[in-house]
Amino acid sequence: MQTPENIIVIGAGIVGVSTAYELALRGAAVTLIEAREGAGLGTSYANGGQLSACEVAPWAGPEVPGLILKWLGRDDAPFRLRPKLDPDQWLWLLRFLARCRTSARRERIPHNLELALLTRARLAAYREQFAAAGQPLEFEQRQRGILRIFRDRHAFADAVEETKLMARLGVEQEPLTPAQCIGIEPALGSAMQRGDIAGGLYSRTDSSGDAHLYSVALAEGAKRLGVRFVTTSTATGIATEGARARGVTTAEGTIEADAVVVAAGTGSAALLKPLGIRSYIYPLKGYSVTLPAPDANAPEVSITDEERKIVISRLGDRLRAAGQAEVGGYDLTLEKPRAEAVLRAIEALFPQVGPRTDEALFWCGLRPMTPDGSPVIGAAAPFSNLFINSGHGTLGWTLGAGSGAALADLICGSAPQSDLSPFSISRF
Ligand SMILES: Cc1cc2nc3c(=O)[nH]c(=O)nc-3n(C[C@H](O)[C@H](O)[C@H](O)COP(=O)(O)OP(=O)(O)OC[C@H]3O[C@@H](n4cnc5c(N)ncnc54)[C@H](O)[C@@H]3O)c2cc1C
Repeated sequence: MQTPENIIVIGAGIVGVSTAYELALRGAAVTLIEAREGAGLGTSYANGGQLSACEVAPWAGPEVPGLILKWLGRDDAPFRLRPKLDPDQWLWLLRFLARCRTSARRERIPHNLELALLTRARLAAYREQFAAAGQPLEFEQRQRGILRIFRDRHAFADAVEETKLMARLGVEQEPLTPAQCIGIEPALGSAMQRGDIAGGLYSRTDSSGDAHLYSVALAEGAKRLGVRFVTTSTATGIATEGARARGVTTAEGTIEADAVVVAAGTGSAALLKPLGIRSYIYPLKGYSVTLPAPDANAPEVSITDEERKIVISRLGDRLRAAGQAEVGGYDLTLEKPRAEAVLRAIEALFPQVGPRTDEALFWCGLRPMTPDGSPVIGAAAPFSNLFINSGHGTLGWTLGAGSGAALADLICGSAPQSDLSPFSISRF
């Protein structure tokens, strides 16, 4: 395919901004269309903040059907199903349940990990590019690693087993005793005394930060490279001619393009459906709570509490906890009991946050989730110049920059940094 000159990217979340930035680096003229007022205001706004190569395993696993049943009917359940009269939901769910096997879960790890490691490399390159432009890339990044803690001994043993595969692929996780966990993160002291920690896995090379700040900074970098931002403008459709995308329609008219990338998160399915393309991307609603870090004994290391199913990251002088998964459609209503469940989880782990919990800010967002836990990246057949970069689910930040770089290589015909065939939409 000839390198397109004029490319439209739809969606200015982590994934769309990364794609636009990478395309511009390769010399393309890029227009980014975003429904909101700026970058990173969708699901990329207040996520868990982890850049977690150590946690790229899909959520679908053998334990999940049992957990769904165990939590059935509970308002604050970490995983909740809200049945809808929507065939897309049922199709997604059936495919998700079919993936709840150890072999299916492990099959995806190498593919996701490759993108996570490419993301790390791209972030290092962005830092240099930003520094050279005299604008350091700042997003409250903390390079103190990620510590996964386990209360259940069997879950810990299973996870240790999985680390062997990850280690062969380049990501080491050190198994730790409870006392060693406290050595890494002393703020977990009271959790250990209560017997909340049976063991931990420490990934030294992972990091955390503020995904919204990152999206905004990368968008500024993209603008410096010439990317044109059309904000507060919803793409209402993709204009096609035969087997080619001609441009993108908005309320203001059609913007012509040589190629179009759909990176609209949970908005992607609606854009692709009229073209006869099923995206297999369905929303999985999650919650976060952001509150001031305690004055004393505040955690520094990003934590994943595998029992409570929450992640906690230190963002400057704030703490962010995120969790919850609800398969219940596109509704973005913030349900207090679910948001408060995340707050209670962080309080249980770090009681020292107590005095400032009344300052907590609650948020919810929709993870664009595929059934198998890997994104869809690549061409959208039968259209030769229409591409998808979406469906990053629980891992949008961890995989975002790598996805953008890999897709930009494909579109611009550059030497590929990654094999995209495992992410093709045709796998479903
Ligand atoms: C509670 C929670 C915690 C999370 N924690 C982590 C974490 O710790 N680490 C991690 O890696 N990932 C995490 N994630 C996942 C990650 O946040 C997402 O995968 C990522 O934000 C998705 O990015 P995106 O660019 O695909 O989507 P979005 O950020 O939603 O961006 C899509 C953009 O497209 C725009 N758009 C949609 N439709 C249209 C249209 N028709 N026209 C124009 N614009 C449109 C939207 O306005 C939006 O700005 C978490 C998610 C949640 C909900």
